[in-house]
Amino acid sequence: MTKKVVKPNLQPTKSIAGLWAAFCIRYPNEESSGIFTRSQFFLNSKVACPECATENRLFNFEQRFIQCRNCKRKIWLLAGTFFNRVRRFRPWLAAIWFIEAGVMITASEFARLLKVATSTALMIFKKLSMVIESRMEKKSEKIPSAHFSNTFYRRSRETPAGRHPREEETAAVARVGVNPRARMQLVRDNRANELAVTEKERKLVNSLIGKAEKLLLSLVSDNPISYDRLCKQANLPINEYSAALTNLELFDFVRRLSGDQFVLGDSPYASPVKGSPSRKLIERRNRIASRFIDFVRANYRGISRKYLQNYVALFWAYVDKKTWAQDSLMSACICYREIRDDDVISYVTPLDVVAPRILGAKKKAG
Ligand SMILES: [Zn+2]
Repeated sequence: MTKKVVKPNLQPTKSIAGLWAAFCIRYPNEESSGIFTRSQFFLNSKVACPECATENRLFNFEQRFIQCRNCKRKIWLLAGTFFNRVRRFRPWLAAIWFIEAGVMITASEFARLLKVATSTALMIFKKLSMVIESRMEKKSEKIPSAHFSNTFYRRSRETPAGRHPREEETAAVARVGVNPRARMQLVRDNRANELAVTEKERKLVNSLIGKAEKLLLSLVSDNPISYDRLCKQANLPINEYSAALTNLELFDFVRRLSGDQFVLGDSPYASPVKGSPSRKLIERRNRIASRFIDFVRANYRGISRKYLQNYVALFWAYVDKKTWAQDSLMSACICYREIRDDDVISYVTPLDVVAPRILGAKKKAG
């Protein structure tokens, strides 16, 4: 049997005070923090000099560049990297430390410990959450942001003047040109879909769906289409058209909005179609949403819609300790590009939030 190499546990306790004490032993001051960060980049940088191709590099731990011993060329270590323009490394290392340990710390408490402004603390966590999000692509779920709207209690510059922060959802939807009512309806339909429909009922209803109905279904989408326009596009005799439309509406295959506009419904009678969410998926989405909502309520009370995606990413890093174990976030940062403050300030969560599927996994009993 081979023995596994066990790394020394540098994070012996899971409390903020314990973690902070351990952090202060490992990174007692700004100098040690800077040296650690730069040495990480030195170890990860290309070995050969870009000028003369020799492998004779010199790294002075107090400076921010590598120098070639042969041609004396200086290579800036942090140019274009995540840590470019960072003046104080210690707060960054501390934020990474807390996230990797899976211990929640609020921006104000973090600001107090590290002696930085709360706005600086918020910026650090947002930038880190963007790095975390970049690792999400595989096995992720897209969830309409409206699912999370009861966590939107904080204003942002996206909040319409004089309105509740929740109104950001409507504004975001309107901006991309989707009818907000249609969007909300689709979200609600996700839940309606959970209603049990027997296979017999499904078959019966689907036997009523003929050629004309199928034609109309191919023309209706999530974007509202008017009665007249649909009629024109379908090019069916008017009585056939209106009968088919009524049939579809009756069983929620399409949904009528105000102003005689139509969108796709999410009929419980629909046979599982490619692209439509399965019940399993809907249940998983709902589990993700409700766990996230609990996380926000316990730790932040409320968030803004604008930064929803960032908080979902942070939630993932705090919860999924298999992926976000010790050293994982630091490694991810080293491989990432520079994020400017403006990138954070101008960021707006898209209509569909990305969340790793693991967050919606069924909890094992016990
Ligand atoms: Zn050289």
